[in-house]
Amino acid sequence: MCCGFATEADDNNLPFMRNIGISAHIDSGKTTLTERILFYTGRINAIHDVRGKDGVGAKMDSMDLEREKGITIQSAATFCQWVKDGQEYHYNIIDTPGHVDFTVEVERALRVLDGAILVLCGVSGVQSQSITVDRQMKRYSVPRIAFINKLDREGADPDRVISDLVDKLELNACAMQLPIGLSKEHEGVVDLLTMQAIYSRGDNGEKLEYADIPADMQEEAEARRAELVERLAEVDDEIGELFLMDEEPSLEELKAAIRRATIANTFVPVFMGSAFKNKGVQPVLDAVTDFLPCPTDVENYALRAKSNEDDAAAAGAGEEERELMLSDSSKPLVALAFKLEESRFGQLTYMRVYQGTVNRGDWIFNSASKEKLKVPRIVRMHSNEMQDIDSAGAGEIFAIFGVECASGDTFTHEESRGLSMESMFVPQPVMSLAVEPKRTKDAAKFGKALKRFTREDPTFRRHMDEKTNETIISGMGELHLQIYIERMLREYDLELKTGAPRVSFTEQITQRANFSYTHKKQTGGQGMYAKVEGFIEPLEDGSDEDFVFENRVVGTAIPNEYFTAIEAGFRDAVEKGPQVGGEVKGIRVALEDGNAHMVDSSELAFRIASALAFKSAFKEAGPQVLEPVMAVEVHVPTEFNAAVLSQLNQKKGMINDTAVVGQYTIVKGSVPLSAMFGYSSALRSATQGKGEFTMEYEEHQPVTRDVQAKLMEDFQKQLQAEREA
Ligand code: GDP
Repeated sequence: MCCGFATEADDNNLPFMRNIGISAHIDSGKTTLTERILFYTGRINAIHDVRGKDGVGAKMDSMDLEREKGITIQSAATFCQWVKDGQEYHYNIIDTPGHVDFTVEVERALRVLDGAILVLCGVSGVQSQSITVDRQMKRYSVPRIAFINKLDREGADPDRVISDLVDKLELNACAMQLPIGLSKEHEGVVDLLTMQAIYSRGDNGEKLEYADIPADMQEEAEARRAELVERLAEVDDEIGELFLMDEEPSLEELKAAIRRATIANTFVPVFMGSAFKNKGVQPVLDAVTDFLPCPTDVENYALRAKSNEDDAAAAGAGEEERELMLSDSSKPLVALAFKLEESRFGQLTYMRVYQGTVNRGDWIFNSASKEKLKVPRIVRMHSNEMQDIDSAGAGEIFAIFGVECASGDTFTHEESRGLSMESMFVPQPVMSLAVEPKRTKDAAKFGKALKRFTREDPTFRRHMDEKTNETIISGMGELHLQIYIERMLREYDLELKTGAPRVSFTEQITQRANFSYTHKKQTGGQGMYAKVEGFIEPLEDGSDEDFVFENRVVGTAIPNEYFTAIEAGFRDAVEKGPQVGGEVKGIRVALEDGNAHMVDSSELAFRIASALAFKSAFKEAGPQVLEPVMAVEVHVPTEFNAAVLSQLNQKKGMINDTAVVGQYTIVKGSVPLSAMFGYSSALRSATQGKGEFTMEYEEHQPVTRDVQAKLMEDFQKQLQAEREA
């Protein structure tokens, strides 16, 4: 293998390890910056060298470069190496999906990274996706540095972007550099810490030239440096003291303070340049080393089921205790599978070790499936190649082959069994869509794609509508579903017919109701006979179960062989609720008695009887329809505040909070998803295009009585139409 990197776990390397993400609004230059990073860290360059020696033609070259680019983009984690002051640093660049709707995927990606680079377009500034990702990063306390890109473009204005960071994202963002020239004149940056100019020279900007600050910028540079020190003094005690005593902090003191404040999430250092024109990228790589945390700088927690497995299952989920992970390779293993990837090397599972060490040949346990498996091969992924390693220790990111698991599964050693990095909680889908392949011969491919996506992303689900024979996919929003449809086309060449997106309703009951139901049919030959008795009731508040079936039958009124069919009948019924066809949640079915016939009873008869018994009792149990309600956050210039509030009120939204930050007002509220269709254009026209909003799923809430009546009526009509078709 090419590299001199360690292939065995060693905790002494932890201070030199960085697990980082690069996040950006689409088109800000995340891909371009990532490619430049791989170039400067020698990953892409290395390939050119090898290919040169092989004498492979230029045409082949460009194809390979394309492929390389594809891999760069797809790779869930790319390993590269940066040398600073003679010290080798290991960077894992973890792909962070920027889409709002990928709640689970975004959370998982954020979870495995210790810090992030927020890329912003120097012209467009902070856009909606940046707001969303930033909010997620705040939630997970991910320290970040910012890179303002595209300074070579007409209209680039880094100061305005920094004001955006302060006003729109409420970040204590401060320039670490000044641009030398903007748009066509953009040449380099002034480093406000070392007070020197940095120019990127050479064909690919690979040669850095350090020079004096241009004379006409000296005064501004001094003023900006003073501002930087002052801003730091506000959030860092050591600099604060020096500031009060009017003493000039040293370079090392400043760097240490910026590192402390960045890791504490009280400060965001801002860098700038043009990835495309190869300007200002190396200083960002230095900044990752200087200011973003290494694995021991951040705290990570695993969850441990409180009691033994059986008790925990009986008590329901949610009985979990947090346990601090120690970045110590000698502890028992805890590793999270955060991404599955179909690659040209076959199925890869990416993992991060939180504690302990995994060695090739180890036996490890999957906390979710309880399976035990032997680690076949451990590799590190580079952008274009992989490297076999013998073991991976605390803080490291690696991939293994040929392991059947789901993304989000935790792997442990025997001694650490029971620990899990992720709660089993998966949010409710909020929207669904009927899909089918346009070409019938694609059915098998379609099944394969769906199987893979549902395994990778637990918020993406599918089921068959038995009545209409349609495949229904559901997920966290319209965009979420659109992305999978797009991926099926791109990755599987599957053209799909899709229905209109529908909001996913659920149903519940509010009180207990009894059932006593006899299903009886006599049509010549063998008849049908089954009787079931019992009750349904809502589960206790706080229970995380959706459906509990209790068999309380004493005696032999119902022969044992029918119980499975009875439970299946009730499960059929809750899957598609009687009111609007939504899943029934939070319900207990207790079977107390019944009756069977020697000849006419059958599994089918009991299954049907149970489903119909459920329907009859459901009506008496105070049924409700629930709809997904979204947490909506709107950022607008304050002059448009009133317009936004009135719009949200019209949508039956609840306003939870409004806050004024600089020129902006941030409105937070809860709004039914069904009212949010078309909101982006409505907001645009109400705010002259200046408003931005984000939304994410909050909870399902009961709809009003009149809405419920209307929904039920529509559902009946739909059933009628299906019957006639
Ligand atoms: P991503 O969607 O964030 O990954 O953005 P890309 O890296 O794909 O860039 C989007 C577009 O912006 C592409 O056409 C890039 O060539 C272009 N781009 C990226 N960085 C720069 C830059 O620094 N300057 C200019 N002028 N264009 C850039």
